[in-house]
Amino acid sequence: MLVGIDIGATSLDIALLRPDLGIIARHAQEADVQAGPGPIMARLRTLLPAMLAQNGIAPDRVLAVGIGVPGPVNFAAGQLVNPPLMPGWDSYAIREDLREVTDAPIFVDNDVNLMALGVLWRQRKQIENFLVIKVGTGIGCGIVCHGELYRGSTGSAGDIGHICADPEGPLCRCGNRGCVEAMAAAPAIVAMGMEAAQSGRSPSLADRLAAKDQLEAADIGAASRAGDAEADAIVRRSGHLIGQVLAALVNFYNPSHIFIGGGVSAIGPMFLAAIRQSVNQRSLALSTRHLEITSAPLGPETGLIGAGVLAMREALRSGGPA
Ligand SMILES: [Zn+2]
Repeated sequence: MLVGIDIGATSLDIALLRPDLGIIARHAQEADVQAGPGPIMARLRTLLPAMLAQNGIAPDRVLAVGIGVPGPVNFAAGQLVNPPLMPGWDSYAIREDLREVTDAPIFVDNDVNLMALGVLWRQRKQIENFLVIKVGTGIGCGIVCHGELYRGSTGSAGDIGHICADPEGPLCRCGNRGCVEAMAAAPAIVAMGMEAAQSGRSPSLADRLAAKDQLEAADIGAASRAGDAEADAIVRRSGHLIGQVLAALVNFYNPSHIFIGGGVSAIGPMFLAAIRQSVNQRSLALSTRHLEITSAPLGPETGLIGAGVLAMREALRSGGPA
């Protein structure tokens, strides 16, 4: 029995998984990662034993736990390092904090790396060089090279959200200007949507805003699919900016596939189409000749299953409980 945990910027997901990575039970709830580790870790310490008990699983049957977090991770230490989305978590001892609820080995990694592990497992090693992009509150990239996850020399490989898309662009939470994340991830899409609604340029978004006080990225997607020109322009703009960064990655890395996941990826077909168009326009012909850009397989469960893959692999590699 494995435990997969996906700590997102705005959500907390827990899954109990069989060794074949089939999901036995799953629990999801909203959570604000910026509130710091205290409240979220306290919830995990309550939820995990409760889930095990509900499913009749004794705690000592947990083989390993995999945890994904939305920031750069020092994998060996199992700690976040200067995470822009979650400053209160810097160097926090996540593993030690869960010791009181399980004796099983606990492995922590960046959420997008876990998505890449999930895709790698799903593809059964049929493709060996690919990228997985997560677009949600932030933007990150998991890199698979020769069939293995590539973490880089210090673990921050694929932290593409802070690549500059426009030097004159808006200030990012990392302190720099015009990062692709600040211009194209969910908060930017919402800000553009709110502006279009409040200025009256988008009657459809204005109606949605009137009904609920605060728009979400999914509202802009729904308005776009319903034919609202302003909402459509926002979705395309986000896709084009991300595609511009991906084009550089494609020229540099020459992947055979790029899988797009995360909450914003479900915003509508125009998003993926804009990414494809931008990548094809800006990449070298040889790099894009056989390149496929598609939605991540396994959908919203990619990260949770990836957490299970991490737990399984690392437990086998380390030869049992640490
Ligand atoms: Zn930034």
